[in-house]
Amino acid sequence: MIYKSYKKIDSLGRVHLPKDFREELDLRENDDILIEVKDNSVVITKAEDSCVFCGKNDKLTAFKGKFVCAKCIKSLNTT
Ligand SMILES: [Zn+2]
Repeated sequence: MIYKSYKKIDSLGRVHLPKDFREELDLRENDDILIEVKDNSVVITKAEDSCVFCGKNDKLTAFKGKFVCAKCIKSLNTT
């Protein structure tokens, strides 16, 4: 399903996410989200708060909507 909604950004840069959007993505209060700029758009993704390779959550870096820990990044760079 495609959801569209026009919203205004408030003076602090905040935007209200409509209830339908939150329900579609199972986003709840205090959930972590990942915000990225892609192709001149802002993309909001429900954050996975652990490394996609090892499952740890130490020194995470976001990459294409996923998190990778510093140790795995180092390992990727040396292989
Ligand atoms: Zn890792």
